[in-house]
Amino acid sequence: MEDDNIFGETFKTGNVNANGDVGWPPYCILSTKILNRTRTTLVHELIHTTLPYREGVDEHDHTDVSDVFNPAGAGSDKKDGQTIKKVLPKRWAENLRRAYFAYPG
Ligand SMILES: [Zn+2]
Repeated sequence: MEDDNIFGETFKTGNVNANGDVGWPPYCILSTKILNRTRTTLVHELIHTTLPYREGVDEHDHTDVSDVFNPAGAGSDKKDGQTIKKVLPKRWAENLRRAYFAYPG
């Protein structure tokens, strides 16, 4: 991740470009070079894993700036900018509660 505004990326089952035909469960890669000043990259990416795979980028929630799934305010520590307090709305918490990684093997 060379871009200072890419804090993490999620790869889903069905992403043939990333996984071939291996069929990996969804997984996330986080940047080790930069931090998002809201410190919500991991939970944001984990939410992505709970959404169905489709070509392109998932729709983010742009209605509530405090929603952890809204990328607004997700700026790098290395750049100036406003810090926005983020919260995990119940609907995303419910998605995470049902995610494959929420159950012991
Ligand atoms: Zn996202």
